[in-house]
Amino acid sequence: MRLMSIASGSSGNCIYAGSGNTHLIIDAGLSGKKIENGLKEIGLSTADMDGVLVTHEHSDHIQGLGVISRRYHLPIYATAGTIEAIMSSGTCGKIDPALFHEISADRNFMLKDIEVGPFRISHDAAEPVAYRLTEKVCESGLSGDAPAVIDKEERVSAAVCTDLGKYDDYIMEHLRGVSILLLESNHDVNMLEVGPYPYYLKQRILGEKGHLSNETAGELLSKVITDSMKAVLLGHLSHENNFTELAYETVKQELLMRHPELSDRKFSMEVALRDRCSQLIKVS
Ligand SMILES: [Zn+2]
Ligand SMILES: [Zn+2]
Repeated sequence: MRLMSIASGSSGNCIYAGSGNTHLIIDAGLSGKKIENGLKEIGLSTADMDGVLVTHEHSDHIQGLGVISRRYHLPIYATAGTIEAIMSSGTCGKIDPALFHEISADRNFMLKDIEVGPFRISHDAAEPVAYRLTEKVCESGLSGDAPAVIDKEERVSAAVCTDLGKYDDYIMEHLRGVSILLLESNHDVNMLEVGPYPYYLKQRILGEKGHLSNETAGELLSKVITDSMKAVLLGHLSHENNFTELAYETVKQELLMRHPELSDRKFSMEVALRDRCSQLIKVS
């Protein structure tokens, strides 16, 4: 399984995830040009993508969707509520309705050799989901029509989980056991509280349908981390209410407080930035 953040943050989100022969992007909240430039860093082009998985209709997740779907005819996977919100908002311009594929939370589906598992998140959008992707290893090593399924423990998964105001057992269940996790670490609560945002916006971000703070992200990570987790990317940082180092240190502190044994373990954590690609994380 491979994952790279092309950009992550309140100003735009686009994450590449794939296997050796399946290539997906999760959200298209950047210009078509930025998406293309990001994919180029790993030797790919938007034309190589097998589809776009959309989490929800907020503009930081879809602003490039119209352009790339018109240019490359990429299939778009989204829930019924998200599709309707995209169509009615008009922010993406005209998109061929035939490109939309309706999906539902908790109904997994296959895109070549990747099993896509959408799951519900608590956010102020029509029908938002996060995604867990699992690479199915085929006997032949290639993707076939009927890949032989191997033991669950041996499958490698990645999850992209941002834009959620709270977490519960359901969320933890979907994140446990993944090898690569991109987790929201949106804001520092103190910075947000004393910052310039108007009251209603502060309440929205802090609310149950808003965004995860650094502390809450650390707490959630410490509850879902297992031996199979090899890499963590902290993402969707707020430009106004967070700093890269602050997010990193706060999450690390929360994690080590609950799991002091992790200080000796080789474990990679980095912050996904808004204006630069992360490294390409590979776990097989
Ligand atoms: Zn959102
Ligand atoms: Zn967002």
